[in-house]
Amino acid sequence: MTTITVAKGDGIGPEIMDATLRILFAAGAKINVEEVEVGEKVYLAGNTAGIAKSSWDIIRKNKIFLKAPITTPQGGGYKSLNVTTRKFLGLYANIRPCMSLHPFVKTKHPVMDIVIIRENEEDLYAGIEHQQTDEVVQCLKLISRPGCEKIVRYAFEYARAYNRKKVTCFTKDNIMKQTDGLFHQVFDEIGKEYPEIEQEHWIIDIGAAKLADTPEAFDVIVMPNLYGDVLSDVAAQITGSVGLAGSANIGEECAMFEAIHGSAPKRAGQNVANPSGLLQGAIMMLNHIGQSDIAEKVQNAWLRTIEEGKHTNDIYKEGVSKQKLSTSGFADAIIENLGKKPTLFHEAVYAGGKPLQLPAYKRKTAQKKELIGTDIFVHWSGTDPDELAKKIGKLSNNQVELTMITNRGIKVWPDGFSETFCTDHWRCRFKTSNGTNMDKKQIIELLRIAEQEGIDTIKTENLYSFEGRHAFSLGQGQ
Ligand code: NAD
Repeated sequence: MTTITVAKGDGIGPEIMDATLRILFAAGAKINVEEVEVGEKVYLAGNTAGIAKSSWDIIRKNKIFLKAPITTPQGGGYKSLNVTTRKFLGLYANIRPCMSLHPFVKTKHPVMDIVIIRENEEDLYAGIEHQQTDEVVQCLKLISRPGCEKIVRYAFEYARAYNRKKVTCFTKDNIMKQTDGLFHQVFDEIGKEYPEIEQEHWIIDIGAAKLADTPEAFDVIVMPNLYGDVLSDVAAQITGSVGLAGSANIGEECAMFEAIHGSAPKRAGQNVANPSGLLQGAIMMLNHIGQSDIAEKVQNAWLRTIEEGKHTNDIYKEGVSKQKLSTSGFADAIIENLGKKPTLFHEAVYAGGKPLQLPAYKRKTAQKKELIGTDIFVHWSGTDPDELAKKIGKLSNNQVELTMITNRGIKVWPDGFSETFCTDHWRCRFKTSNGTNMDKKQIIELLRIAEQEGIDTIKTENLYSFEGRHAFSLGQGQ
């Protein structure tokens, strides 16, 4: 028996949660339910996070959280509960299966059945942003080895557990050689432990185009946070049934399961909403807590009900559907079908029935790290890079010299092009004259002289080598 935390949410939330729980209990799910209140009422009572501390305590105690959609009130100041939950509970993996239900739900891709596995905690979503000059703002893209290892391993373990044949990785490592490069490298490293699973890497742009055009070419796709955010919506949309998809957010200790749609306030209280999205989330939850036999039973009853043409209003189609059902009527129809298998769709088989167990991340031995230079970023409103080189060149001495200036990553000195458009945000790269390592005191001295010369330094980024490998990007055109 597993105790789960349930939040009935707002709008259609309570109706679809009641329908979902009724189906789970009828199927014999071994769960106890402990309810918490989150969402609109909590927000409007003055709690900008939308959740009280006592609810956090319950969620952290039970570790498994089934959440109906909530309404985030209009107006500023309210924090997204989903983002807060993911970050606080360390839910590093987002899993979204996207399957077409042709011919019952209209789609251009009748044979699509993919799972998008998205890293959920880092990348540009670390939310570290700064304005540095009049013209330039930045957002730090942080990719960590533990982050990559956890999500990539999760994707392979998922594929193994659910008998998926292939894992594809999407990155843009032809451009972001350090960040996306690490993700791709970890994919190749960990992939070696799963030789029975086909594996491939696509550059995200052509991969995304292929996904939108020929989704049947993919099976499981793993990717960093931002790409996964965008493409998991694309994938759900092209199945034709964005309202029917569920998602799981998995952490080392806790996990949250939900529908991907919102609280549909206009449909609230009418017993017309489709509970399928939340039910799909709940099926993932059953698999996660090791009740795969029940998950399989519910999924097959759901598929059977859809193919019998018993549909809620949102997917009801004259000529295809047979019966228009209410939220509770649809739940009844699924309950009647418990124990039956689909005849048109592939039967769901969740063999094994063991929850995914991933080893905890082990920190690697430290590498030999050497400081070999520094990039000093400067706010300067001039336009001629040669003029800046003269000005900032004064920082050079017989040990340290200016080697390059870039603007938005493009080399503009030495030998820049007059056609290159320059902003007021310049990166000036300093290295030691004789190729030896740099000393942090030399950086402090560079900054001291810059201050003395009236140069507006915004920040520095140290240039390191790890085990002799230069671990920073070159200037574009360098
Ligand atoms: P929505 O997903 O609630 O609705 C989009 C459209 O789909 C509407 O026409 C709606 O009636 C329909 N729809 C959605 N789910 C349905 C279902 N189960 N059955 C039948 N029809 C369904 O998106 P929205 O209108 O942009 O947002 C409404 C509220 O939901 C907002 O307050 C938003 O912040 C919130 N929201 C919450 C979550 C969440 O809690 N995870 C996610 C997205 C949006």
